[in-house]
Amino acid sequence: MATALLGDLPDAALRGTLVLVRLDLNVPLDGDRVLDDTRIDASLPTLHYLCERGARVVIASHLGRPEGRDPRASLGPVAARLAERLGRSVAFVPETVGEAARATIDALGEGDLLLLENTRFEAGEVSNDDAFARELAGDATLFVQDAFGSAHRAHASTEGAARVIRERGGLAVSGLLLARELKWLVSALESPEPPFVLVMGGAKMTGKIDVISAFLPRVDRLLIGGAMANTFLVAQGREVGGSLFEPSRVDLARRLIEEAGETLLLPIDGRSATVPEGDLSRARPGRVIGRDERVPDGEELLDIGPATVERYSEVISTARTIVWNGPMGVFEHPDFGEGSFGVARAIAAATDAGAVSVVGGGESAAAAAAAGVEDRLTHISTGGGAALSLLAGEALPGVEVLSDATEVAG
Ligand code: ADP
Ligand code: MG
Repeated sequence: MATALLGDLPDAALRGTLVLVRLDLNVPLDGDRVLDDTRIDASLPTLHYLCERGARVVIASHLGRPEGRDPRASLGPVAARLAERLGRSVAFVPETVGEAARATIDALGEGDLLLLENTRFEAGEVSNDDAFARELAGDATLFVQDAFGSAHRAHASTEGAARVIRERGGLAVSGLLLARELKWLVSALESPEPPFVLVMGGAKMTGKIDVISAFLPRVDRLLIGGAMANTFLVAQGREVGGSLFEPSRVDLARRLIEEAGETLLLPIDGRSATVPEGDLSRARPGRVIGRDERVPDGEELLDIGPATVERYSEVISTARTIVWNGPMGVFEHPDFGEGSFGVARAIAAATDAGAVSVVGGGESAAAAAAAGVEDRLTHISTGGGAALSLLAGEALPGVEVLSDATEVAG
């Protein structure tokens, strides 16, 4: 089943049409200054597309996790920044639904935009309350989903409003950003060109285990690093000192080791360090711990070692499809980034040579950027949890609710 795409709609279906667009404008703020434009910029193509075709555009998004109204989580500053980046004025009302919002919506002309206040100011958002979803949907006849980062949640703005609009005969389609996410993530999942290499790391196994299980039958190699690798090393009976690992996942790791056989590669060396009072910023320069050495008590593994980087890079260089989720170490610290940066460079080189590379996860994207290779990768997903859910083969409520491609007359 293919999802209906914004680009499939005839232009005539957009002119004068009231459109509710769900964006991911959950950006970091310092007071009323937007600290990072990545998500705003990722939203621009869909907004340009709609405005140029004369749609009347109402934008919904959440910001942070406020409990009810909270001026610190207002989307007001985001409206101002969005307008600057877009080069068009963006109206803002300090409410998500209500009379002021309705009046502004009624006054929208062709190509005009309105950003509603933070959807999470309303209790009905997270509970996906039907009445709130109906108010949010208003008189819109088209829903455009472009908030990939929230598509794994069934909230009123990600699912409920789209359902309401479809129920009364309207359409719900994927925006340009979501279409790109689906294209690369779904093709990596469903039809990866072999050799297919999955690189997994990061801090927590939870959520990632399902990705590994979903991919295991299809991958040629599974490379594991980061704190996740520690859990596997413990499962192999190795002593990891004070390293971060998940005791409750050791049995699972043991089963995966058996199931994966030669497909699975674990680090053959690591960089360990002492971390005074658990404060990573004070970690003392690491030393390399070899395969059969134990990590002394009071030290912890904070990165994969140089021999592992070399081995993993070799494997990556043979790949035609690479999916990467989770850094290989604590790359935020200058002494423990080489594992993640080395792997990122290897993935970039393989991509230069024709492989498809897909990166999911907030910190993995940051590691790719810090390694200076983000422009050389095929696709860096904007959605952390949503990318993981999709890669794990789970249905995303915010995608499931969209119209089928066959419902759109081309
Ligand atoms: P992503 O956001 O890419 O999915 P995660 O959120 O799972 O990744 O984990 C990222 C975090 O894992 C990073 O901030 C990194 O510092 C941490 N990390 C990686 N390796 C280790 C390690 N060996 N010990 C402790 N923390 C680690
Ligand atoms: Mg993360």
